[in-house]
Amino acid sequence: MIELTLTELAAWSISVAMVLVVFFEWISRWSNGNAERRSLRRRVQCRLCLQVHEEEGRERIFRCPHCGAENEKGRNRSLG
Ligand SMILES: [Zn+2]
Repeated sequence: MIELTLTELAAWSISVAMVLVVFFEWISRWSNGNAERRSLRRRVQCRLCLQVHEEEGRERIFRCPHCGAENEKGRNRSLG
């Protein structure tokens, strides 16, 4: 049996609680960052009317629902 004084028990409890808080904070930031990156990847800005839309499909060409212009997703913006 491990023998602890009350002070040691309190110190251990506080330490464990602090580690847990840091751990859950890290998990929360990590999952928020993932959600934001996923959202940014889907976001497409129309080159013609500059409206921003979220596009779920996998096609490289995206037709703007507002003005009907064709836009290319991703970094390569050679279209138009
Ligand atoms: Zn547009």
